[in-house]
Amino acid sequence: MKILVINCGSSSLKYQLINMETKHLIAKGLVDRIGLAGAVLTHSLTSGEDEVITADIPNHTAAIGLVLEALIDPKYGAVKELKEIAAVGHRVLHGAHKFSASVVVNDAVMEALYECIPLGPLHNPANIAGIEACQKLMPGTPNVAVFDTAFAQTMPDYAYVYGLPYEYYEKHHIRRYGFHGTSHKYISQRAPIVLGRPTEELKVIICHLGNGSSITAVKGGKCIETSMGLTPLAGLLMGTRCGDIDPAIVSKVMTIENLGVDQIDNFLNKKCGVLGVSGVSSDFRDLGAAAEQGNYRAQLALNMFTYYIQKYIGSYVAAMDGVDAIVFTAGIGENSSSIRAAICAKMNYLGVSLDEEKNKIRGQEIDIASADSRCRILVIPTNEELMIALDTVELTQ
Ligand code: ADP
Repeated sequence: MKILVINCGSSSLKYQLINMETKHLIAKGLVDRIGLAGAVLTHSLTSGEDEVITADIPNHTAAIGLVLEALIDPKYGAVKELKEIAAVGHRVLHGAHKFSASVVVNDAVMEALYECIPLGPLHNPANIAGIEACQKLMPGTPNVAVFDTAFAQTMPDYAYVYGLPYEYYEKHHIRRYGFHGTSHKYISQRAPIVLGRPTEELKVIICHLGNGSSITAVKGGKCIETSMGLTPLAGLLMGTRCGDIDPAIVSKVMTIENLGVDQIDNFLNKKCGVLGVSGVSSDFRDLGAAAEQGNYRAQLALNMFTYYIQKYIGSYVAAMDGVDAIVFTAGIGENSSSIRAAICAKMNYLGVSLDEEKNKIRGQEIDIASADSRCRILVIPTNEELMIALDTVELTQ
């Protein structure tokens, strides 16, 4: 069974075709600059070279049309006909209060997806466009929507209601939702396997550390706390996002810089985080290099990043009344042994001790704690596309 996974951004589209018998990737690609001059599709087969196709790509329907053509191309295609694709799984950013799990798309679901747009104004319209394009171009093939917010829907009310008048939650659905849910869900399913222990008895803290970063507390396989909020701006210090700040800063900066609503949104999402603090880069490899050369602000940004994570971990240990394992995943979590070591350096209270040799290993599922560590420390490479494909198979089979 072959599943196509689609992740639509406002001007880009990523896709993977996955063989679900082997769980192996067959083909993947990226359409960039949708709706702009110089749009391009880069398509690659796991067995072959990249195929770069430039074309006029005015919208997501055109982009998906081009992807489907590439997938059945006699030279660099991956299937003989589109009927071989059993179903399509779509990443959808915001499911608001309406979706607590993945769903097969039908008319009622489409209506609800449109109603979620105000909470995900930047991403949800593109996600919807992707689904509609597939409905048009692959009639009869089921589409499944997989939500970034779904995994954290199991949080208790005292964790997701904000300290605002309650009507804002009731009328406007302003609450903590959490994001990166597909990644956190995947890791929460892998961790018990790596640990060789039953899910039900485990308290796990998952650190998804990439350009965007978030942490969840998972008790018995269910998310009970997460660091992102109504939007993916909250929580940890990120590449370009500010994470937790005093909310009064927002109006203060708007006044100082004479910014409107869209501009302050752009500022907090794109100009802050480790980029803003360091003035060097949002990329942690650049930051590490600059810090090594004695750049104070790069080192400060790294110290802040680590410190926020340590504080969150401490608070999630409190939220779960204990922790069995802490998992690192995503670009930084999977690759940076120095950041993992820095985070774990202040965990004597948990009886954590790292195995320095194991901590050097990258890109594989591994327990990097030493044998006598009371809390296990895992590295598990995330696989959001596979998680989307697994949900898609489960719902459409
Ligand atoms: P996203 O999916 O949110 O775009 P990723 O999960 O791909 O992000 O993570 C990207 C981040 O991972 C970048 O900041 C990059 O610098 C960081 N990263 C990748 N490899 C390393 C490494 N070896 N050391 C430190 N950071 C790394």
